[in-house]
Amino acid sequence: MTAAVAGFNLKRKTVTEHGGIVMEKDQIVEKKKEDSFGAAERRVRESVERLQLPSVVYEFLKKPQRFMEASIPVQMDHGGVELFSGYRAQHNNVLGPFKGGIRFHPGVTAASVKALSLLMTLKCALIGVPFGGGKGGVACNSLEMSAAEKERVSRGYIRAFVDLIGPEIDIPAPDLFTDARVMGWMVDEYCALTGRYTPGVLTGKPVEVGGSVGRKEATSRGCVYVAREAAKICGITLKDATVVVQGCGNVGGQAAQFFSELGCKVISVCDISGGLYRAEGIAIPDLLDHVKETGLIEGFAGGEKIAGEELLTMDCDILVPAAMENQLTAANAPEIKARLIVEAANGPTTPEAEQILSERGIFLVPDVLANSGGVTVSYFEWVQNNQGLYWDLETVNQRLEKMMVEAFHTVYRFGRERSAGGTLREAAYGYAVQRLAEAMRLRGWY
Ligand code: NAD
Repeated sequence: MTAAVAGFNLKRKTVTEHGGIVMEKDQIVEKKKEDSFGAAERRVRESVERLQLPSVVYEFLKKPQRFMEASIPVQMDHGGVELFSGYRAQHNNVLGPFKGGIRFHPGVTAASVKALSLLMTLKCALIGVPFGGGKGGVACNSLEMSAAEKERVSRGYIRAFVDLIGPEIDIPAPDLFTDARVMGWMVDEYCALTGRYTPGVLTGKPVEVGGSVGRKEATSRGCVYVAREAAKICGITLKDATVVVQGCGNVGGQAAQFFSELGCKVISVCDISGGLYRAEGIAIPDLLDHVKETGLIEGFAGGEKIAGEELLTMDCDILVPAAMENQLTAANAPEIKARLIVEAANGPTTPEAEQILSERGIFLVPDVLANSGGVTVSYFEWVQNNQGLYWDLETVNQRLEKMMVEAFHTVYRFGRERSAGGTLREAAYGYAVQRLAEAMRLRGWY
Protein backbone atom coordinates (compact mmCIF):
# COMPACT_ATOMS: atom_id res chain seq x y z
CA MET A 1 0.00 0.00 0.00
CA THR A 2 1.29 3.48 -0.76
CA ALA A 3 1.16 5.83 2.22
CA ALA A 4 -0.32 9.25 1.57
CA VAL A 5 1.87 12.20 2.39
CA ALA A 6 0.10 15.53 2.51
CA GLY A 7 0.80 17.81 -0.42
CA PHE A 8 2.24 15.02 -2.56
CA ASN A 9 0.93 12.39 -4.90
CA LEU A 10 2.80 9.13 -4.53
CA LYS A 11 2.44 6.69 -7.41
CA ARG A 12 3.91 3.20 -7.24
CA LYS A 13 5.94 2.50 -10.32
CA THR A 14 8.43 -0.15 -11.37
CA VAL A 15 11.42 1.79 -12.63
CA THR A 16 14.83 0.26 -11.98
CA GLU A 17 16.61 -2.98 -12.27
CA HIS A 18 19.68 -3.95 -10.25
CA GLY A 19 21.37 -7.26 -11.02
CA GLY A 20 18.13 -8.68 -12.35
CA ILE A 21 16.14 -7.54 -9.34
CA VAL A 22 13.22 -5.35 -10.31
CA MET A 23 12.78 -2.57 -7.79
CA GLU A 24 9.65 -0.61 -7.13
CA LYS A 25 10.01 3.06 -6.48
CA ASP A 26 7.68 5.86 -5.50
CA GLN A 27 7.30 8.50 -8.13
CA ILE A 28 6.76 11.70 -6.33
CA VAL A 29 4.81 14.46 -7.99
CA GLU A 30 4.63 17.65 -6.01
CA LYS A 31 1.30 19.44 -6.12
CA LYS A 32 1.48 23.12 -6.84
CA LYS A 33 1.14 25.06 -3.59
CA GLU A 34 1.68 28.50 -2.18
CA ASP A 35 5.04 29.14 -0.58
CA SER A 36 5.24 30.21 3.05
CA PHE A 37 9.05 30.01 3.20
CA GLY A 38 9.71 32.35 0.29
CA ALA A 39 8.45 35.16 2.47
CA ALA A 40 11.13 34.63 5.14
CA GLU A 41 13.89 36.16 3.04
CA ARG A 42 11.70 39.14 2.13
CA ARG A 43 10.84 39.67 5.79
CA VAL A 44 14.53 39.70 6.71
CA ARG A 45 15.15 42.36 4.05
CA GLU A 46 12.22 44.43 5.34
CA SER A 47 13.54 44.14 8.91
CA VAL A 48 17.00 45.32 7.81
CA GLU A 49 15.39 48.32 6.07
CA ARG A 50 13.00 49.13 8.91
CA LEU A 51 15.78 48.98 11.52
CA GLN A 52 18.07 51.00 9.21
CA LEU A 53 20.81 48.37 9.40
CA PRO A 54 23.54 48.17 6.74
CA SER A 55 22.32 46.25 3.69
CA VAL A 56 25.26 43.85 4.06
CA VAL A 57 23.34 42.29 7.01
CA TYR A 58 20.70 41.18 4.51
CA GLU A 59 23.42 39.93 2.13
CA PHE A 60 24.77 37.72 4.94
CA LEU A 61 21.35 36.37 5.85
CA LYS A 62 19.68 35.85 2.50
CA LYS A 63 21.40 32.53 1.80
CA PRO A 64 23.32 29.86 3.75
CA GLN A 65 27.05 30.30 4.35
CA ARG A 66 27.50 26.76 3.07
CA PHE A 67 25.21 24.22 1.40
CA MET A 68 25.99 20.56 0.77
CA GLU A 69 24.22 17.87 -1.26
CA ALA A 70 25.08 14.17 -1.26
CA SER A 71 23.83 11.00 -2.92
CA ILE A 72 23.21 8.46 -0.19
CA PRO A 73 23.28 4.81 -1.34
CA VAL A 74 20.97 2.61 0.73
CA GLN A 75 20.67 -1.16 0.60
CA MET A 76 16.93 -1.86 0.54
CA ASP A 77 15.30 -4.92 2.08
CA HIS A 78 14.49 -6.36 -1.34
CA GLY A 79 18.22 -6.57 -2.09
CA GLY A 80 18.66 -3.64 -4.49
CA VAL A 81 20.39 -0.35 -3.77
CA GLU A 82 18.62 2.99 -4.05
CA LEU A 83 20.21 6.42 -4.12
CA PHE A 84 18.59 9.13 -2.02
CA SER A 85 19.40 12.87 -2.11
CA GLY A 86 20.62 14.22 1.24
CA TYR A 87 21.14 17.87 2.08
CA ARG A 88 22.73 20.01 4.78
CA ALA A 89 22.44 23.80 4.88
CA GLN A 90 24.73 25.72 7.25
CA HIS A 91 23.04 29.05 7.25
CA ASN A 92 24.80 31.34 9.71
CA ASN A 93 27.13 30.75 12.66
CA VAL A 94 27.69 34.23 14.02
CA LEU A 95 26.09 33.28 17.35
CA GLY A 96 27.50 29.74 17.61
CA PRO A 97 27.64 26.34 15.86
CA PHE A 98 25.02 25.70 13.15
CA LYS A 99 21.98 23.95 14.57
CA GLY A 100 18.92 22.41 12.97
CA GLY A 101 16.89 19.27 12.40
CA ILE A 102 17.01 16.56 9.74
CA ARG A 103 13.83 15.65 7.84
CA PHE A 104 13.12 12.33 6.13
CA HIS A 105 10.29 13.32 3.80
CA PRO A 106 9.51 13.23 0.05
CA GLY A 107 9.10 17.02 0.08
CA VAL A 108 12.72 17.62 1.09
CA THR A 109 14.40 19.76 -1.58
CA ALA A 110 17.51 21.94 -1.68
CA ALA A 111 15.27 25.03 -1.58
CA SER A 112 13.17 23.90 1.40
CA VAL A 113 16.28 22.94 3.41
CA LYS A 114 17.86 26.34 2.71
CA ALA A 115 14.68 28.19 3.68
CA LEU A 116 14.29 26.20 6.90
CA SER A 117 17.92 26.90 7.82
CA LEU A 118 17.20 30.64 7.75
CA LEU A 119 14.29 30.09 10.13
CA MET A 120 16.68 28.28 12.50
CA THR A 121 19.13 31.20 12.49
CA LEU A 122 16.29 33.54 13.41
CA LYS A 123 14.86 31.14 16.00
CA CYS A 124 18.16 30.67 17.85
CA ALA A 125 18.80 34.41 17.87
CA LEU A 126 15.31 35.07 19.13
CA ILE A 127 15.23 32.58 21.97
CA GLY A 128 18.78 33.45 23.04
CA VAL A 129 20.65 30.14 22.63
CA PRO A 130 24.30 30.34 21.47
CA PHE A 131 23.72 28.60 18.15
CA GLY A 132 23.48 29.55 14.52
CA GLY A 133 21.04 28.07 12.03
CA GLY A 134 21.23 24.93 9.94
CA LYS A 135 18.92 22.30 8.47
CA GLY A 136 19.16 18.95 6.75
CA GLY A 137 17.08 16.30 5.13
CA VAL A 138 16.78 13.26 2.93
CA ALA A 139 14.18 13.14 0.16
CA CYS A 140 12.55 9.78 0.92
CA ASN A 141 9.22 8.33 1.93
CA SER A 142 10.28 7.04 5.32
CA LEU A 143 6.67 6.07 6.16
CA GLU A 144 7.07 3.15 3.76
CA MET A 145 10.52 2.08 4.94
CA SER A 146 11.27 -0.72 7.35
CA ALA A 147 13.19 0.16 10.54
CA ALA A 148 16.29 -1.47 9.02
CA GLU A 149 16.04 0.69 5.88
CA LYS A 150 15.52 3.81 7.98
CA GLU A 151 18.61 2.92 10.02
CA ARG A 152 20.66 2.56 6.84
CA VAL A 153 19.44 5.97 5.59
CA SER A 154 20.38 7.48 8.98
CA ARG A 155 23.87 6.00 8.98
CA GLY A 156 24.33 6.93 5.31
CA TYR A 157 23.45 10.55 6.09
CA ILE A 158 26.16 10.71 8.75
CA ARG A 159 28.74 9.04 6.49
CA ALA A 160 27.97 11.68 3.85
CA PHE A 161 28.35 14.65 6.19
CA VAL A 162 30.68 13.40 8.96
CA ASP A 163 33.43 15.91 8.20
CA LEU A 164 31.05 18.84 8.24
CA ILE A 165 29.28 18.30 11.57
CA GLY A 166 30.48 18.20 15.19
CA PRO A 167 29.60 19.64 18.62
CA GLU A 168 31.45 22.88 17.85
CA ILE A 169 30.62 22.97 14.13
CA ASP A 170 27.09 21.87 13.27
CA ILE A 171 24.68 19.99 15.55
CA PRO A 172 21.70 18.24 13.87
CA ALA A 173 18.48 17.15 15.63
CA PRO A 174 15.17 15.39 14.80
CA ASP A 175 12.52 16.99 12.61
CA LEU A 176 9.68 15.80 10.41
CA PHE A 177 9.60 11.95 10.30
CA THR A 178 12.82 11.59 12.31
CA ASP A 179 12.94 10.95 16.04
CA ALA A 180 15.15 9.96 18.99
CA ARG A 181 15.59 6.46 17.50
CA VAL A 182 17.07 8.00 14.34
CA MET A 183 19.34 10.23 16.45
CA GLY A 184 20.53 7.11 18.34
CA TRP A 185 21.66 5.47 15.06
CA MET A 186 23.22 8.71 13.85
CA VAL A 187 25.23 9.39 17.01
CA ASP A 188 26.43 5.79 16.98
CA GLU A 189 27.63 6.14 13.38
CA TYR A 190 29.39 9.44 14.15
CA CYS A 191 31.17 7.95 17.20
CA ALA A 192 32.20 4.86 15.18
CA LEU A 193 33.58 6.93 12.28
CA THR A 194 35.48 9.41 14.47
CA GLY A 195 36.55 6.91 17.13
CA ARG A 196 35.42 9.24 19.92
CA TYR A 197 32.42 9.24 22.23
CA THR A 198 30.83 12.53 21.18
CA PRO A 199 27.20 12.69 22.31
CA GLY A 200 27.09 16.50 21.78
CA VAL A 201 27.23 16.10 17.98
CA LEU A 202 23.45 15.63 17.84
CA THR A 203 20.55 16.51 20.09
CA GLY A 204 17.18 14.87 20.55
CA LYS A 205 18.91 11.56 21.35
CA PRO A 206 17.31 8.88 23.52
CA VAL A 207 17.94 9.68 27.21
CA GLU A 208 19.85 6.39 27.51
CA VAL A 209 22.53 7.61 25.09
CA GLY A 210 23.02 11.16 26.30
CA GLY A 211 19.66 12.76 25.53
CA SER A 212 18.07 15.24 27.91
CA VAL A 213 14.98 14.47 29.90
CA GLY A 214 12.16 16.71 28.66
CA ARG A 215 13.60 17.10 25.11
CA LYS A 216 10.95 15.00 23.39
CA GLU A 217 8.12 17.16 24.72
CA ALA A 218 10.06 20.45 24.68
CA THR A 219 8.69 21.92 21.44
CA SER A 220 5.10 21.30 22.54
CA ARG A 221 5.70 22.40 26.10
CA GLY A 222 7.35 25.61 24.89
CA CYS A 223 4.52 26.18 22.46
CA VAL A 224 1.94 25.87 25.22
CA TYR A 225 3.91 28.30 27.45
CA VAL A 226 3.80 30.98 24.75
CA ALA A 227 0.16 30.16 23.97
CA ARG A 228 -0.62 30.77 27.66
CA GLU A 229 1.09 34.21 27.54
CA ALA A 230 -0.60 35.12 24.24
CA ALA A 231 -3.99 34.00 25.60
CA LYS A 232 -3.66 36.59 28.39
CA ILE A 233 -3.16 39.32 25.76
CA CYS A 234 -6.16 38.06 23.76
CA GLY A 235 -8.35 37.86 26.87
CA ILE A 236 -8.80 34.08 26.54
CA THR A 237 -9.22 32.18 29.81
CA LEU A 238 -7.54 28.82 29.38
CA LYS A 239 -9.93 26.96 31.64
CA ASP A 240 -12.43 25.46 29.17
CA ALA A 241 -10.93 27.34 26.20
CA THR A 242 -11.51 25.32 23.03
CA VAL A 243 -8.39 24.17 21.19
CA VAL A 244 -7.92 22.42 17.85
CA VAL A 245 -4.62 20.84 16.81
CA GLN A 246 -3.58 19.88 13.28
CA GLY A 247 -1.04 17.03 13.45
CA CYS A 248 -0.71 14.33 16.07
CA GLY A 249 3.00 13.57 15.87
CA ASN A 250 5.75 14.53 18.25
CA VAL A 251 4.70 18.19 18.43
CA GLY A 252 0.91 18.09 17.89
CA GLY A 253 0.18 15.09 20.12
CA GLN A 254 2.11 16.43 23.09
CA ALA A 255 0.75 19.95 22.59
CA ALA A 256 -2.80 18.55 22.76
CA GLN A 257 -1.83 16.77 25.98
CA PHE A 258 -0.37 19.93 27.62
CA PHE A 259 -3.38 22.06 26.58
CA SER A 260 -5.72 19.53 28.15
CA GLU A 261 -3.59 19.49 31.34
CA LEU A 262 -4.09 23.29 31.53
CA GLY A 263 -7.86 22.72 31.55
CA CYS A 264 -8.50 23.49 27.88
CA LYS A 265 -10.98 21.43 25.88
CA VAL A 266 -9.16 19.94 22.88
CA ILE A 267 -12.19 19.50 20.65
CA SER A 268 -10.47 18.40 17.45
CA VAL A 269 -7.19 16.78 16.36
CA CYS A 270 -6.17 15.40 12.96
CA ASP A 271 -3.31 13.68 11.18
CA ILE A 272 -2.71 12.34 7.67
CA SER A 273 -5.41 9.71 8.25
CA GLY A 274 -8.14 12.30 8.96
CA GLY A 275 -9.66 14.15 11.87
CA LEU A 276 -11.62 13.64 15.03
CA TYR A 277 -14.16 15.91 16.77
CA ARG A 278 -15.71 15.83 20.23
CA ALA A 279 -17.48 18.94 21.58
CA GLU A 280 -16.85 17.97 25.23
CA GLY A 281 -13.12 17.56 24.55
CA ILE A 282 -11.22 14.49 23.33
CA ALA A 283 -9.61 12.21 25.92
CA ILE A 284 -6.06 13.02 24.80
CA PRO A 285 -4.14 10.41 26.85
CA ASP A 286 -6.34 7.66 25.34
CA LEU A 287 -5.87 9.10 21.85
CA LEU A 288 -2.09 9.24 22.29
CA ASP A 289 -2.06 5.61 23.48
CA HIS A 290 -3.96 4.65 20.34
CA VAL A 291 -1.57 6.65 18.09
CA LYS A 292 1.43 5.09 19.83
CA GLU A 293 0.02 1.64 19.14
CA THR A 294 -1.23 2.11 15.57
CA GLY A 295 0.72 5.15 14.32
CA LEU A 296 -2.46 6.98 13.28
CA ILE A 297 -5.60 8.63 14.67
CA GLU A 298 -7.71 6.47 12.35
CA GLY A 299 -9.67 3.85 14.26
CA PHE A 300 -9.86 5.78 17.55
CA ALA A 301 -13.41 5.55 18.81
CA GLY A 302 -13.48 8.56 21.19
CA GLY A 303 -14.91 11.11 18.76
CA GLU A 304 -16.72 11.79 15.54
CA LYS A 305 -14.69 11.22 12.36
CA ILE A 306 -14.21 14.38 10.26
CA ALA A 307 -12.13 15.39 7.25
CA GLY A 308 -8.76 16.86 8.22
CA GLU A 309 -9.41 20.15 6.36
CA GLU A 310 -12.59 20.84 8.38
CA LEU A 311 -10.53 21.27 11.51
CA LEU A 312 -8.74 24.45 10.44
CA THR A 313 -11.94 26.49 10.06
CA MET A 314 -13.66 25.07 13.13
CA ASP A 315 -15.16 27.37 15.77
CA CYS A 316 -12.56 27.48 18.57
CA ASP A 317 -10.46 29.81 20.73
CA ILE A 318 -6.99 28.52 19.86
CA LEU A 319 -5.82 26.89 16.62
CA VAL A 320 -2.49 25.05 16.65
CA PRO A 321 -1.15 24.01 13.24
CA ALA A 322 1.43 21.34 14.17
CA ALA A 323 1.88 19.35 10.98
CA MET A 324 3.21 20.84 7.74
CA GLU A 325 3.95 24.10 5.97
CA ASN A 326 1.40 26.04 3.86
CA GLN A 327 -1.74 24.85 5.65
CA LEU A 328 -3.39 28.22 6.34
CA THR A 329 -3.86 29.74 2.90
CA ALA A 330 -5.75 32.57 1.19
CA ALA A 331 -8.49 29.98 0.53
CA ASN A 332 -9.22 29.03 4.15
CA ALA A 333 -7.99 32.15 6.06
CA PRO A 334 -11.30 34.06 5.61
CA GLU A 335 -13.12 31.11 7.24
CA ILE A 336 -10.83 30.65 10.23
CA LYS A 337 -12.71 31.29 13.46
CA ALA A 338 -9.96 30.92 16.08
CA ARG A 339 -9.03 34.04 18.07
CA LEU A 340 -5.45 32.92 18.59
CA ILE A 341 -3.21 30.89 16.26
CA VAL A 342 -0.02 29.37 17.62
CA GLU A 343 2.30 28.08 14.88
CA ALA A 344 3.78 24.90 16.30
CA ALA A 345 4.78 23.74 12.79
CA ASN A 346 7.32 25.53 10.64
CA GLY A 347 5.78 27.80 8.01
CA PRO A 348 2.12 26.69 8.30
CA THR A 349 0.74 30.10 7.21
CA THR A 350 1.22 31.52 3.71
CA PRO A 351 1.94 35.27 3.47
CA GLU A 352 -1.47 35.90 1.85
CA ALA A 353 -3.21 34.05 4.65
CA GLU A 354 -1.27 36.00 7.27
CA GLN A 355 -2.37 39.28 5.72
CA ILE A 356 -6.01 38.18 5.84
CA LEU A 357 -5.72 36.91 9.43
CA SER A 358 -4.02 40.13 10.54
CA GLU A 359 -6.75 42.27 8.92
CA ARG A 360 -9.34 40.13 10.70
CA GLY A 361 -7.63 40.84 14.05
CA ILE A 362 -6.61 37.23 14.72
CA PHE A 363 -3.52 37.13 16.95
CA LEU A 364 -0.81 34.85 15.54
CA VAL A 365 2.28 33.65 17.40
CA PRO A 366 4.84 32.89 14.65
CA ASP A 367 6.76 29.63 14.27
CA VAL A 368 10.17 31.14 15.04
CA LEU A 369 8.88 31.97 18.50
CA ALA A 370 6.16 29.35 19.11
CA ASN A 371 8.20 26.24 18.33
CA SER A 372 11.57 27.34 19.73
CA GLY A 373 11.16 25.14 22.83
CA GLY A 374 12.75 22.22 20.96
CA VAL A 375 15.97 24.03 20.16
CA THR A 376 16.04 25.49 23.67
CA VAL A 377 16.11 22.04 25.29
CA SER A 378 18.48 20.87 22.54
CA TYR A 379 20.78 23.58 23.85
CA PHE A 380 20.29 22.21 27.40
CA GLU A 381 21.12 18.72 26.08
CA TRP A 382 24.32 19.98 24.42
CA VAL A 383 25.34 21.80 27.64
CA GLN A 384 24.76 18.60 29.64
CA ASN A 385 26.75 16.53 27.10
CA ASN A 386 29.64 19.00 27.24
CA GLN A 387 29.64 19.04 31.05
CA GLY A 388 28.92 15.33 31.51
CA LEU A 389 26.47 16.44 34.19
CA TYR A 390 22.78 15.70 33.74
CA TRP A 391 19.80 17.70 35.04
CA ASP A 392 16.43 16.51 36.35
CA LEU A 393 13.13 17.13 34.57
CA GLU A 394 12.07 19.90 36.94
CA THR A 395 15.26 21.88 36.20
CA VAL A 396 14.83 21.42 32.43
CA ASN A 397 11.18 22.50 32.47
CA GLN A 398 11.76 25.49 34.76
CA ARG A 399 14.59 26.79 32.58
CA LEU A 400 12.54 26.19 29.43
CA GLU A 401 9.54 28.06 30.83
CA LYS A 402 11.69 31.01 31.89
CA MET A 403 13.31 31.33 28.44
CA MET A 404 10.06 30.92 26.50
CA VAL A 405 8.10 33.42 28.62
CA GLU A 406 10.94 35.95 28.48
CA ALA A 407 11.31 35.55 24.70
CA PHE A 408 7.57 36.01 24.15
CA HIS A 409 7.38 39.23 26.18
CA THR A 410 10.64 40.59 24.74
CA VAL A 411 9.32 40.15 21.21
CA TYR A 412 5.89 41.51 22.11
CA ARG A 413 7.50 44.60 23.69
CA PHE A 414 9.89 45.00 20.76
CA GLY A 415 6.89 44.94 18.42
CA ARG A 416 5.04 47.63 20.36
CA GLU A 417 8.10 49.86 20.62
CA ARG A 418 9.78 49.32 17.24
CA SER A 419 7.15 48.18 14.76
CA ALA A 420 3.89 49.61 16.06
CA GLY A 421 0.96 48.19 14.14
CA GLY A 422 3.03 45.33 12.75
CA THR A 423 2.45 41.64 13.33
CA LEU A 424 4.20 39.58 16.00
CA ARG A 425 6.10 37.85 13.18
CA GLU A 426 7.49 41.20 12.03
CA ALA A 427 8.54 41.92 15.62
CA ALA A 428 10.16 38.49 15.97
CA TYR A 429 12.11 38.91 12.71
CA GLY A 430 13.11 42.45 13.67
CA TYR A 431 14.37 41.43 17.11
CA ALA A 432 16.31 38.42 15.74
CA VAL A 433 17.83 40.38 12.85
CA GLN A 434 18.92 43.15 15.22
CA ARG A 435 20.72 40.63 17.49
CA LEU A 436 22.39 38.93 14.53
CA ALA A 437 23.47 42.27 13.06
CA GLU A 438 25.03 43.37 16.34
CA ALA A 439 26.94 40.07 16.72
CA MET A 440 28.19 40.34 13.12
CA ARG A 441 29.35 43.91 13.76
CA LEU A 442 31.13 42.96 16.99
CA ARG A 443 32.85 40.01 15.29
CA GLY A 444 34.00 42.34 12.54
CA TRP A 445 31.96 40.80 9.72
CA TYR A 446 31.17 44.32 8.56
P1 NAD B 1 5.95 14.26 13.18
O1 NAD B 1 6.42 13.56 11.98
O2 NAD B 1 6.18 13.64 14.51
O3 NAD B 1 4.37 14.53 13.07
C1 NAD B 1 3.77 15.14 11.98
C2 NAD B 1 2.26 14.95 12.14
O4 NAD B 1 1.57 15.72 11.16
C3 NAD B 1 1.80 13.53 11.97
O5 NAD B 1 0.75 13.27 12.89
C4 NAD B 1 1.26 13.51 10.55
O6 NAD B 1 0.30 12.49 10.35
C5 NAD B 1 0.63 14.86 10.50
N1 NAD B 1 0.40 15.43 9.18
C6 NAD B 1 1.25 15.52 8.16
N2 NAD B 1 0.63 16.15 7.15
C7 NAD B 1 -0.62 16.47 7.56
C8 NAD B 1 -1.72 17.14 6.99
N3 NAD B 1 -1.66 17.64 5.78
N4 NAD B 1 -2.85 17.28 7.70
C9 NAD B 1 -2.91 16.82 8.94
N5 NAD B 1 -1.91 16.19 9.55
C10 NAD B 1 -0.77 16.01 8.86
O7 NAD B 1 6.58 15.73 13.07
P2 NAD B 1 6.79 16.74 14.27
O8 NAD B 1 8.15 16.56 14.83
O9 NAD B 1 5.60 16.71 15.16
O10 NAD B 1 6.84 18.12 13.46
C11 NAD B 1 5.65 18.81 13.07
C12 NAD B 1 6.02 20.23 12.68
O11 NAD B 1 6.67 20.87 13.77
C13 NAD B 1 6.96 20.35 11.48
O12 NAD B 1 6.64 21.52 10.77
C14 NAD B 1 8.32 20.51 12.14
O13 NAD B 1 9.26 21.18 11.30
C15 NAD B 1 7.92 21.38 13.32
N6 NAD B 1 8.88 21.36 14.42
C16 NAD B 1 9.20 20.20 15.07
C17 NAD B 1 10.08 20.23 16.15
C18 NAD B 1 10.40 18.99 16.94
O14 NAD B 1 11.04 19.13 18.00
N7 NAD B 1 9.98 17.83 16.53
C19 NAD B 1 10.66 21.45 16.54
C20 NAD B 1 10.30 22.62 15.87
C21 NAD B 1 9.40 22.55 14.82
